[in-house]
Amino acid sequence: MPETFDTGLVWFRRDLRLHDNAALAAALQSCRKVYCVFVFDTAILKPLPRADRRVEFIRESLVELDTRLRTKSGKSAAGLIVLHGDAATCVLGLAQSLRAQAVFAGRDYERYAIDRDARVDAALRTQGGALLLHKDHVIFEGQDILTQAGKPYSVFTPYLRAWTTQLDSNPTHCAAREAPGEALAERPSEFQRPVPRLEDIGFAPTNLQALGLRAGESGAAALLADFVPRIDRYDTARNFPSINGPSYLGMHLRFGTVSVRHLVRLAKQTSAHSAGASTWLAELVWRDFYAQILANFPHVATGAFRPEYDQIAWEEGDSAQTLFAAWCAGQTGYPLVDAAMLQLVQTGYMHNRLRMVAGSFLVKHLGIDWRWGEQFFALHLNDFDWASNNGGWQWVSSSGCDAQPYFRIFNPVAQSEKFDAQGKFIHRYLPVLQGLQGKAVHAPWLAKPVELAAAGVVLGDNYPAPVVDHAAARARTLLRYGVVKKSASPEAGSAQ
Ligand code: FAD
Repeated sequence: MPETFDTGLVWFRRDLRLHDNAALAAALQSCRKVYCVFVFDTAILKPLPRADRRVEFIRESLVELDTRLRTKSGKSAAGLIVLHGDAATCVLGLAQSLRAQAVFAGRDYERYAIDRDARVDAALRTQGGALLLHKDHVIFEGQDILTQAGKPYSVFTPYLRAWTTQLDSNPTHCAAREAPGEALAERPSEFQRPVPRLEDIGFAPTNLQALGLRAGESGAAALLADFVPRIDRYDTARNFPSINGPSYLGMHLRFGTVSVRHLVRLAKQTSAHSAGASTWLAELVWRDFYAQILANFPHVATGAFRPEYDQIAWEEGDSAQTLFAAWCAGQTGYPLVDAAMLQLVQTGYMHNRLRMVAGSFLVKHLGIDWRWGEQFFALHLNDFDWASNNGGWQWVSSSGCDAQPYFRIFNPVAQSEKFDAQGKFIHRYLPVLQGLQGKAVHAPWLAKPVELAAAGVVLGDNYPAPVVDHAAARARTLLRYGVVKKSASPEAGSAQ
């Protein structure tokens, strides 16, 4: 029997949904009265640009959550309390004023959140309360899955096997967490306010709506309904950025407007007879994998998973800054890399294949510290997730667990010819290259002058000449990675 409380407070963070929400279900099952809160945390918002798609997405999701809470409760004055300030201070103050004995929340694995939650829990305990954290963001967390030697996994394939075995032997790990809503309480009159507008919290609207990015559970459901009929083709379609291959659910998974348990159940139902569904399920397991890496190897927050990779001397100074600026602006002269970076900046999304190609280009062609790229992605990705972003960058730079070997250096032209053969994706983001076809669209500097002239492309003028030569960059990288040669072997790494 769960412990029971008179009054509970559900603190929504990265689980902005009613359906299959572990913290909400636990509160509804164990409290006579339940209030719900979300805090726009000034510590998180402060460093963000004043127009940020993620902030707008959260705000739109909260509007839907607020309405759904009222519907679920059947009470017109119920709903979400939305505050703006230091999260710990706001939650503690609210818990006190509502006389809540327990605060319920989904567990968050990022350093800032862990410290904040520890402070909130300690303060609540001095008042006889507690912060009750529930696993919600992943299927298996922290030390749920260990090797036979009792150690965390650092290689994906055996982790995937163990993950599958553990789930098959106990499917409740992905069972839905639901409870009726009678306990949802009417908000005290001072908290019966609509969700603040973006300008109320110091932000401006973005192009979220123009991009057709729908927030909330309804947005996630629409994307899922679009993806399910395509799931069988996921394994073959997911590598081609110009086609609708992936699910585009990353942002919803990040903010919890969809339950990962729901997605895993769905994928498992079809995976036995669908290579697409089973590949997609494995991608969801990569997400768990990186979350447990962050939990078990916290040094990845600042350095390489394999410390010997911290010896690498990256480019520095003005020339490194200039090259980095060209990469950020989609001005490297390599069309697939540039189109990828423009997709990121203009939409907040970047296709997985392109995250690997553009990331690899930054590290292994420009010789720039992967942490610069990690930070740029963190600022721009709609689905930015600390663990997966760090895992992706450590994979790209070969410094991570189960990363690609350091001597595997993507050739951006070959990647472009293979994954965007007709140049459709490139043309979408680089209309200036619209007139170039065939090989020329992948490497304009190799096109004949007459071809460039007919297409209206003037290298160095309306499209850059390549900032580096592939063969020379490759040679420099092999030298640069020489310091870690002894520790890396051709067997290391598995494909993502
Ligand atoms: P789908 O292909 O439909 O996959 C479904 C879900 O599975 C994704 O939404 C995601 O939650 C998970 N997933 C898929 N691939 C991976 C992966 N390789 N690692 C971890 N989870 C995965 N993913 C993020 O969610 N946040 C990030 O900040 C992030 N940064 C990345 C940075 C780099 C350098 C690289 C190489 C990859 C990164 N990824 C990140 C992983 C991956 O690119 C995205 O999850 C995926 O492109 C999101 O698109 P989708 O939702 O259409 O994915």
